[in-house]
Amino acid sequence: MALTNGHQPVTVIGAGLAGSEAAWQLAVRGIPVQLIEMRPKIASAAHHTDKFAELVCSNSLKGEDPSTAAGMLKRELRALGSLIMAAAETTAVPAGTALAVDREAFSAAITSALISHRNIEVIREEATAIPSGDVIVATGPLTSTGFEHALCSVVGNDRLAFFDAAAPIVSADSIDMSKAFCASRYLKGPGADYINCPLDRDGYEAFLGVLLSAERVIRRSFEQEELFQACQPIEEVARCGPEALRFGAMKPVGLTDPHTNARPWAVLQLRAENRVMTAYNLVGCQTNLTFSEQRRVFSMIPGLEHAEFVRYGVMHRNTFVDAPRLLAPDLSVRSFPSVRIAGQLSGTEGYLEAAAGGLVAALGVVSSRLGGTLLPLPPETALGSLIAYATDPETVSYQPMHVNLGIMPPMTSIGSKRARHTAIGERAADALARYSAEHATSLTPALRAAKAIAP
Ligand SMILES: Cc1cc2nc3c(=O)[nH]c(=O)nc-3n(C[C@H](O)[C@H](O)[C@H](O)COP(=O)(O)OP(=O)(O)OC[C@H]3O[C@@H](n4cnc5c(N)ncnc54)[C@H](O)[C@@H]3O)c2cc1C
Repeated sequence: MALTNGHQPVTVIGAGLAGSEAAWQLAVRGIPVQLIEMRPKIASAAHHTDKFAELVCSNSLKGEDPSTAAGMLKRELRALGSLIMAAAETTAVPAGTALAVDREAFSAAITSALISHRNIEVIREEATAIPSGDVIVATGPLTSTGFEHALCSVVGNDRLAFFDAAAPIVSADSIDMSKAFCASRYLKGPGADYINCPLDRDGYEAFLGVLLSAERVIRRSFEQEELFQACQPIEEVARCGPEALRFGAMKPVGLTDPHTNARPWAVLQLRAENRVMTAYNLVGCQTNLTFSEQRRVFSMIPGLEHAEFVRYGVMHRNTFVDAPRLLAPDLSVRSFPSVRIAGQLSGTEGYLEAAAGGLVAALGVVSSRLGGTLLPLPPETALGSLIAYATDPETVSYQPMHVNLGIMPPMTSIGSKRARHTAIGERAADALARYSAEHATSLTPALRAAKAIAP
């Protein structure tokens, strides 16, 4: 098949959620695409079909409420003419306030749209090298081992992680500061950078008891080996003995609780996750507990009784790059600008976040080929804030992130939580409307094509 139009083809590697969206966004704007997908020749450990954009686990794309980050992201994807959203709408199944899909019909619709598009050439091969020209790498959390070497040649050996061992993150305004206190250990550093949740002896022992008996996620066989070599979950450390945490992640040394003027028996520290300090990471609490057990166990910590989790801890096989150090806001590799990295490989988490990353990477190519400055998206939007977070060099200890209110610019002046979330949603809608009006000409081809799929 000849790909013409005067444009060099863009190579998109991986036809998952991100690669499918990226290929579509380029093709509908007349940019030819070579879409390389290894399935069915080479299987992944989680995919079961040869279809594009296969949902490997849940069939839910989460809620629609526009005062939640997931709801905002859906609205933004629709406004940008997303193929994944259009296919989701045509294949939706009843799921209350969430958007869930018939997974087979969903993937079939996307596969059919892509393979029948005249600007897309599908190549069913495993990519083992990075081709020349514009490339979008979207090989996902289970990137084939045959491609890792090529990827390392672009991103560097020490910038690729192979598992996700993340601690929970809670929203700052849900921490009870009448019990917690701000301080750095031994008062070191320029400021009181940590929020400290103090435990007395009884509280620590009760916490340990519940932690040790809490229900854990059963990992799949392909996730078994690599995790424990690198990073111990808190429940495993606790199993080493009753003092293991008190002399490890929960050590109290160098800290005085201003409420008691004494050193606590143990301390759980929280570190700011973003510059605006709206979200805090539970330091050393990477965990494999189920999400409901994480809520139960960590709410025993003084100050976290009513903590709102913006991300739960996870431990699973997951290949991703150190995006804050590698990627520019258009998802191009700073030292190899013709290569863009999208989807879960760029360190976002979630189906729609992956699709959104593919869309942003494609808009980056569109901007560079057709002119116009489509990026960055406004930071007040869910998608804009996700990419800003992922590519902010100030983001430390990067772990994959899904969209959430904690990484969006705060609106601290509004008191009630419900009102604040609604206001953040309205602000995102306004920013999106301004963006859409400004870029109407560039967005029209994608909107028209999406409408043909989900009229
Ligand atoms: C086991 C598991 C369960 C998950 N469950 C959920 C969930 O329930 N809900 C949720 O929101 N998120 C979930 N995620 C996270 C994430 O949303 C999905 O993994 C999502 O599919 C990521 O999209 P992607 O496009 O980045 O990668 P993928 O959808 O995995 O797509 C990557 C594609 O690249 C192909 N590929 C890989 N290497 C090569 C190569 N060298 N050459 C050519 N093709 C290649 C793969 O075959 C695949 O088709 C899960 C992840 C995993 C691993």
